[in-house]
Amino acid sequence: MRIVGHKAGKTNDLQASQKSVKGQPAQSPWRLALICVMQYMENLSDRQAADAVRGRIDWKYALSLPLEDSGFNFSALSEFRKRLIKGEAEELLLNRILEQLREKELLKGHKRQRTDSTHILAAIRPLNRLETLGETMRAALNSLAIAAPDWLAKRSKKDWFDRYGRRVENYRLPKLDSEREVLGTQMGEDGFNLLKKVYASNAPQWLHLIPAVEILRQVWVQQFYTPVDGKVQWRSPKDMPPSTIAIHSPYDVEAHYSSKRSVNWVGYKAHVTEICDEDTPNFITHVQTTLSTVTDEVVVEPIHQALSSKSLLPEEHLMDLGYVTAGHLVSAQENYGIELIGPVRNDPTWQAKHHPKFANSNFQIDWDKQVAVCPRGHQSKGWKKKTDSKGQPIINIRFSQLDCSPCPSRSRCTRAKIEPRGLTIHPKSEYTALHSRRKVQHTPKFLKTYNKRAGIEGTISQGVRRSALRQSRYIGLAKTHLQHILIWIGLNLCRLNDWLDGIPLAATRYSRFMTLKPKASSI
Ligand code: SF4
Repeated sequence: MRIVGHKAGKTNDLQASQKSVKGQPAQSPWRLALICVMQYMENLSDRQAADAVRGRIDWKYALSLPLEDSGFNFSALSEFRKRLIKGEAEELLLNRILEQLREKELLKGHKRQRTDSTHILAAIRPLNRLETLGETMRAALNSLAIAAPDWLAKRSKKDWFDRYGRRVENYRLPKLDSEREVLGTQMGEDGFNLLKKVYASNAPQWLHLIPAVEILRQVWVQQFYTPVDGKVQWRSPKDMPPSTIAIHSPYDVEAHYSSKRSVNWVGYKAHVTEICDEDTPNFITHVQTTLSTVTDEVVVEPIHQALSSKSLLPEEHLMDLGYVTAGHLVSAQENYGIELIGPVRNDPTWQAKHHPKFANSNFQIDWDKQVAVCPRGHQSKGWKKKTDSKGQPIINIRFSQLDCSPCPSRSRCTRAKIEPRGLTIHPKSEYTALHSRRKVQHTPKFLKTYNKRAGIEGTISQGVRRSALRQSRYIGLAKTHLQHILIWIGLNLCRLNDWLDGIPLAATRYSRFMTLKPKASSI
């Protein structure tokens, strides 16, 4: 980590004579890190945090600064964050805090931990399709105006200044669909025209390397068909790329559109893992930030790897339906000795819904003989090992036409017109784990343990209310992740403070009406 700094001492080292390359006073890395954390504990901007260092006695005390210290320019915080990310040192901040807690015996057993995720709004304005086109063109023109002003001035059309001279906002755009289509096609022509000029043999060779120009090229590929005879045509929605790769805004190309239940957003997803043992504070042990389109189940293995590297693996890990799969139930146990506590999806097949007697779970599997026996006692005739679309091993089982064609239960067992019944199942360990979990996941004993997971929602709520977790302050995944690390370190320090002060955890709150439930009559 290349961070200019020196040890804290009695001298005012924020005004030390030692200068960095640009001539600013050198800053102590530990102090800048602590300022960044305190900044998020109070949800302050960089300017407000720099003012707090300069003017608040409690901040000076926490930072071991003399009262007469005159502070520093707020831009030092932004530079510090950039260096942390460049040096891939952001995880160190949380890990050091956890090490310190362990040394002080405050991070004792970690029998049980829980994880949940929440959506994060990107630091950009959500755009509709026309706005995306206009803003992408505008961003490219603005970048070219900085990098090659003379070149651009000679090649810009007059009407480009009307269309892209100021923010492209929906309320200024035409309202009628036909007029919007004409404008979109015009924007497409403008973009192709500009790209043609940028890629011309007599244009400077570095022009197309400007990031905003490359983004323009990518967005135009995603939004338009290749022009035929100079005619530009929008892509139909079915020919558009999926939201995992579609660029929503030229200002943050990693922020994708996503939706979960009733929430639609453009941005990222934050996963937080915390201890939930009875006898220790609920310290946050891991923070993961992903693109918004990454499903929860994908992060289970990275979370366990990270907890293992910190020697913080729990015996039980509480997660909701989105995280727990048959594969994870087995791999978490085999690779890390962790029992995943969480429900798995119910059997999604129509047989399970309408004719449960003919659901997969009612077929007897003889793993040694590689044979399945159907509810009417017929043996399968085919057993093939394959991989599914995600590369996971599966087994395809097929019954005999001779058994299934005349079967009186056929209409309840299969909807195939001619083919016999087929089954697709997981390999033995996953199959057993999946079906065992489905059997127990509605029992009172399981639900009592699983109910402990719900507390993580209070933690996310605390992050949102106290430190504005919901809104990313920065552009890009890496900086957003650093923001999340700083937020959760801050909450760990708040929780440590409360623990040392003997402040108990907040009790679950119920509405006044719900408190009457135990007394209610059984009418
Ligand atoms: S349709 Fe085939 S697999 Fe299904 S119950 Fe009848 S014989 Fe068994």
